[in-house]
Amino acid sequence: MKPADCFLHCPKCGQPAAQPGSAPFHCASCGFLFYFNPAIAVGAVLLAPDDTVLLIRRAKDPHQGKLTVPGGFVDAGEAAEDALRREIREEVGLSIERLDYFCSLPNSYPYRGVTYQVLDYFFVGRVDSKAVRTEPGEVTEACWLPRDQIRLDEIAFDSVREMLRRFIG
Ligand SMILES: [Zn+2]
Repeated sequence: MKPADCFLHCPKCGQPAAQPGSAPFHCASCGFLFYFNPAIAVGAVLLAPDDTVLLIRRAKDPHQGKLTVPGGFVDAGEAAEDALRREIREEVGLSIERLDYFCSLPNSYPYRGVTYQVLDYFFVGRVDSKAVRTEPGEVTEACWLPRDQIRLDEIAFDSVREMLRRFIG
């Protein structure tokens, strides 16, 4: 279900929703209005000096066992680049200074029975070393792959798959 389907009552005044599932949510009793905006997420194509790309295998659902690029959700009040540097540090232990914007793509993220809409912003960064330290519980494997060895059917999210398709060219 979508987030709007979960709003069966007004979260402000508690009255039953007149039209459950409608977006934005509008309470006829108290006038409360709530927009179901997409969450913002970021991801990075990280390139080693030999031009291989870092892919990580997901330890958790959604898409447990599939490959993706390092990244994650942007916190409130955080810049996209800062969120991405934080996620890269947490997931693979790399420090990245320069990140160049590549593209954005919509994505959907099913989690605990609710499918959230997300807008993914992708960046490209270069690293000096392939030495990664993966985050246990989030990442089961990290691999540096030549572009021509990236198999798109192994990629976790539609947005990441499309981004890599464009990047590989
Ligand atoms: Zn209300």
